[in-house]
Amino acid sequence: MEVVRAENVYPWEGKAQKPKEGEFIKLNPDKTIEVPDKPIIPYIEGDGIGAEITPAMIHVVNAAVEKTYGGSKRIIWVEVLAGDKAEEKAGDRLPQETLEFLKEAVVGIKGPLGTPVGKGVRSINSALRRAFDFYSAVRPVYWMGQPTPIPDPQRVDVVVFRENTDDVYAGVEFFSGTDEAKKVREFLIKEMGAKEEGFPEDVGITVKPMSEFKTKRHVRKALRYALENGRKNVAVIGKGNIMKATEGAFINWAFEVAQEPEFADKVLTDPEAQPNEGQVKLSKVITDQMLMQLVLKPDAWDVVIAQNLNGDYVSDLAAALIGGPGFVPSGNIGDGYALFESTHGTAWDIAGKGIANPLSLTLSGAMMLEYIGWREAAQKIYEAVKKTFEDKVGTPDIAAGFKKLGIEAKAVSTYEYAQEIAKRIQ
Ligand code: NAD
Repeated sequence: MEVVRAENVYPWEGKAQKPKEGEFIKLNPDKTIEVPDKPIIPYIEGDGIGAEITPAMIHVVNAAVEKTYGGSKRIIWVEVLAGDKAEEKAGDRLPQETLEFLKEAVVGIKGPLGTPVGKGVRSINSALRRAFDFYSAVRPVYWMGQPTPIPDPQRVDVVVFRENTDDVYAGVEFFSGTDEAKKVREFLIKEMGAKEEGFPEDVGITVKPMSEFKTKRHVRKALRYALENGRKNVAVIGKGNIMKATEGAFINWAFEVAQEPEFADKVLTDPEAQPNEGQVKLSKVITDQMLMQLVLKPDAWDVVIAQNLNGDYVSDLAAALIGGPGFVPSGNIGDGYALFESTHGTAWDIAGKGIANPLSLTLSGAMMLEYIGWREAAQKIYEAVKKTFEDKVGTPDIAAGFKKLGIEAKAVSTYEYAQEIAKRIQ
């Protein structure tokens, strides 16, 4: 199947182009954003299938914006480099120029980036996360008609807010048998009162930091989202009964946020409370309970607030319910700065064949439109995608999914699928 290049964009040409048209989104001192009618949005194509799904996403987003606003609003797409293409063209996997452009533009979107296995190769995704302090990874999971492993996927409609900067990902680890592990073990036993039986001589240790500041800013973001989007049932999860100083504290801090003046009369915490219009209810749920509930009664929750590791598990389980990460968008969001991205990886096994499913990135594009306040255009994308499923047309993985359920479906290329979606935008 044919691979198509992006249309109506400013591709990278020796450097990221500064177009004469359009303006950058403005970040206000209070961290809100001001969006011009022609915002300059940088995009990173991504490695592997990135070169295929990015043009597809741009085609659909442009069609939705055009249909919604005529010519009065338009995205000015500018390519910035990262990953393999950056290494090849600029000799650096994450050029300074890219970081500067993303900073100036405030909001951007990216395809998947691979992390080559080997020493000294830094992960671009985590470098970007650090550079912009994207402290919340937001993943809305909803069903649009695609083939799924569960019989009642319409019940799944949940947004997972995963804290993105804390927890065991800090990378502070001491391997069994090393001097460091021995030192930390001795400190814990001799000075901190840890029991020897829990720390035998061959122990390896991973540190799990969790801070009040990082937790509270994340929780505020999730509660604001729930209130702004009419999402009533919000759960904060964790195994606070076991890890009291970290996950237990996370849950307590979440309830403290609920008492802050901004939220006190809008966030109900009484287990018996029924939220009215303009209110949400915050509940505490043990992580393993949440994992079960997502499968057994997925409609119980609208928003799940999670720590980094638990959020990782919960968002993948939720995604699996509606067909896998290929159907789920995601946004990395900090104080105003936001970078939207596909949830799957580079899929080198199918790259260059024109068969990759562009939905994760395309829906991330729609999520980005919502973020900049262009909700009507985002809605048109959701409706059009639903129609493609009703009409049983999609990339080969989608068609194969339908066939497994005994339903005939038409398989088309990545770009043709984007065109099928765009055709159905009304
Ligand atoms: P992967 O998602 O790339 O591939 C897993 C399987 O899913 C493959 O069989 C692939 O063909 C299929 N697949 C993935 N996306 C698809 C799509 N859009 N349409 C159809 N099929 C699709 O996962 P992996 O193999 O574990 O990772 C490959 C690389 O991607 C690694 O270097 C990893 O670090 C990177 N990665 C990057 C991101 C990111 O940038 N956010 C996320 C995950 C993985």
